[in-house]
Amino acid sequence: MDGRRIADALLAALIASRCAACDCLLAQPTRGTVCPECWAAIATFTPPLCRRCGDPLPSWRAVSRGSQRCVRCRRVPRPLDGGRAVGPYKGALRAIVHAFKYDGRRSLARPLAQLVQRHAEDLLSQADLAVPVPLHWSRQHRRGFNQAAELTAHLGLPVVHALCRHVRTQAQVTLPSARRHANVRGAFVPARRAWWRRGPTNAVLRGRTIVLVDDVCTTGATLDACARVLKAEGARRVLALTVAKVVAWRPR
Ligand SMILES: [Zn+2]
Ligand SMILES: [Zn+2]
Repeated sequence: MDGRRIADALLAALIASRCAACDCLLAQPTRGTVCPECWAAIATFTPPLCRRCGDPLPSWRAVSRGSQRCVRCRRVPRPLDGGRAVGPYKGALRAIVHAFKYDGRRSLARPLAQLVQRHAEDLLSQADLAVPVPLHWSRQHRRGFNQAAELTAHLGLPVVHALCRHVRTQAQVTLPSARRHANVRGAFVPARRAWWRRGPTNAVLRGRTIVLVDDVCTTGATLDACARVLKAEGARRVLALTVAKVVAWRPR
C-alpha cells in the first residue's frame, strides 16, 4: 500500500469527507473535494459552436452558409470577439461551480481552470493577457475571494486586474433577462479610475488580445459591459471564457 492509499483510507475512516457537489462519501479524499463521478458527469458543449458567444449551434448543415454565429449574435452587435464555456450551467457542473463559489471551496479553482483550458485551447492561444471580472469590494470581502480571479490565476497567462466594479449591482441570477443589461451598465470602470485603490494604468492592454474570465455567463450582460470598458482602454480584441453558460435556447 503506497502512502497516498494509506492516507486516503485513514482520512475516509476518520473524517468521512463528502463530495462538495453530490455529498457522497469520498473514497479518495486526497484527490480533491469533488468525487470522480461528478467530474465525469459534466455535460460539455460540442461543436458547432457560435464563434462569437460559444453557444452550441443546431448543426453544421445549418451554419455552413452563415458566419457560424447564433441567431442572437447575428442580430445584435456585441463588443466580444469570441467566447467559450465548458458546458451548460446545470447538473454536475452547476453543483461544482456552486461549491466553489458559495461554499468557499477555493481548491476547486485549479481543476476548474484546467477544465476551461482543455475546452478553450484555441482561444487561450490567441490571448496575450487575462483579466478577471471583478466583484464589488463589499461582496468580495464577504466571500473572502473573487472566484473569477482564482480561476484566472491558473490559466497560464499574465493576469491584469484591469477592472473595478464600482456599483454594487443586484446579482444577475435574481433578475429577469430584460433587466440584466441595465443592471450592469456603468457598473465597471478601469481599475485606475477607482478611488479606493490605485490600479494599473492599463497601458498594457493597448493593442492586445484579452481573455476576460468569469465563472458563469448568464445573459452575457456582465461580459459585454466589461468588454466595452476594455475596448475603450485600447484592447484590440476581447474573448470571454467562463466555466459554465446559461444557454437561452436548446439546440435541436
Ligand atoms: Zn460527487
Ligand atoms: Zn452567439
